[in-house]
Amino acid sequence: MQNQILKSGFEELGLEYTDEIEKKFNIYKDLLLEWNKKINITRIENDEEIYIKHYLDSVIFLNNNNKSIDKKIIDVGTGGGFPGLPLKIVNDNFKLTLLDSLRKRIDFLQLVIDELKLKNVELIHGRAEDFGQDTKYREKYDICVSRAVAPLNVLSELCLPFVKLGGHFAAYKSENISEEISGAKSAIEKLGGKIIDTKLIKIPNSDITRKIVIIEKIKQMEKIYPRKAGTPEKKPLL
Ligand code: SAM
Repeated sequence: MQNQILKSGFEELGLEYTDEIEKKFNIYKDLLLEWNKKINITRIENDEEIYIKHYLDSVIFLNNNNKSIDKKIIDVGTGGGFPGLPLKIVNDNFKLTLLDSLRKRIDFLQLVIDELKLKNVELIHGRAEDFGQDTKYREKYDICVSRAVAPLNVLSELCLPFVKLGGHFAAYKSENISEEISGAKSAIEKLGGKIIDTKLIKIPNSDITRKIVIIEKIKQMEKIYPRKAGTPEKKPLL
């Protein structure tokens, strides 16, 4: 029998839930729980929380318009793979890059990708600030996603460099962040971005509401951004 939390959650989000998706999510969960004992990947340690706070939360970005698009997508500060890897598990058409500055987490993700036999996934170990200046990655992505990495003004300097002109950055934020958003507007403008939408979505089977801030890259970014590693956090753009 299929996992009821995930099945009903997918239904609520309007996404198709298949045996193949369930199989992949199960393998991923078992590896996550096993490796979490050896290296620190996530504070979430039981099955139900993984289904809701990792899997369903990650995939709420998907909807009828984007659930099967074939786009280049990067997850900055992916940690244990969230939200990027569940997005790829549900939409295998994505060409996904997962970036994190912690080597052990990238090693763990390599194992998961091998076990799940996922194609078109690239792993990068390093700082977003460094890769954002690398012409191989700079302004090459249709979509950038990121969850729980930094406040929006700092995060925009880490993420917007990867987004191509006309592409989008989706920041997974909590419900009450109106001050964070207003405090980030001028930084986003300096970085060539514009907030075009904020989506409030309840995570199915929970009382948590996620806010996704969608920023479009409307102007090519000045070469000075991102500044060198550590500077966006130490001297956030105002
Ligand atoms: N996104 C995951 C999630 O929501 O479960 C992980 C969140 S964790 C709190 C933040 C992650 O961002 C860590 O794995 C950390 O190594 C990574 N990180 C923070 N700053 C970074 C940077 N400048 N470049 C690359 N990775 C960064």
